[in-house]
Amino acid sequence: MTEDLARELELLRDFGFTHLDIRQPITDNRQPTTDLLGELRNIVIACEKCRLAKTRTQVVYGVGNPNADLMVIGAAPGRAEGIQGEPFVGRAGQLLTDIIKAMQLTRDDVYIANIVKCRPPENRNPEQDEMDACRPHIRRQIEIIQPKVIVTLGRFALQSLTEKGFAISDVRGKWLDYNGIRVMPTYHPAYLLRTPSAKKEVWEDMKKVMTELGR
Ligand code: URA
Ligand code: SF4
Repeated sequence: MTEDLARELELLRDFGFTHLDIRQPITDNRQPTTDLLGELRNIVIACEKCRLAKTRTQVVYGVGNPNADLMVIGAAPGRAEGIQGEPFVGRAGQLLTDIIKAMQLTRDDVYIANIVKCRPPENRNPEQDEMDACRPHIRRQIEIIQPKVIVTLGRFALQSLTEKGFAISDVRGKWLDYNGIRVMPTYHPAYLLRTPSAKKEVWEDMKKVMTELGR
């Protein structure tokens, strides 16, 4: 607990914070999306549309608020995620969780999912045909949740969602559109673990997201 707090405060310092102010969490309880997401989950956990079905442990479907205004989309599950069946629970996930907290939100306020639902062996990058095979799942999740804003983390989420060959360094921090939904591309937290100096840029991007969400 104390360690968590220390780590969060360190991140805020890296983001350039000089003081903190405390706001209330968003509460929003539109209902029936829970059922639709549950139905889709049953389809996705039985999916064998690409080779990753053969080597996966658990399918990592997605987690969070079915009525979230903010969806955060990563690439593919790593080892910890494949074991737990939940996205972003490893080291990069811890950093993502802290970034979400820095935005005065929690993992329960947002919805977190990946472009590819099954872990690529040895944590290799997802391949194009795997992203293509899995894309209908994330598209449907977005359609059900209808977020106001999507944050894509890293190159694979950006390129697979938009189906364009954007370079992350060109478009990060700039609003894009996905079917009328605002998309903010930013760096992947795994990159931030290797390049802590890039945290400042991610925080710039997250501030734009907070403004867009009216926070
Ligand atoms: N990296 C991702 O892109 N997604 C996860 O769920 C974990 C690590
Ligand atoms: Fe199906 Fe996606 Fe898993 Fe491939 S990665 S088997 S497309 S759920």
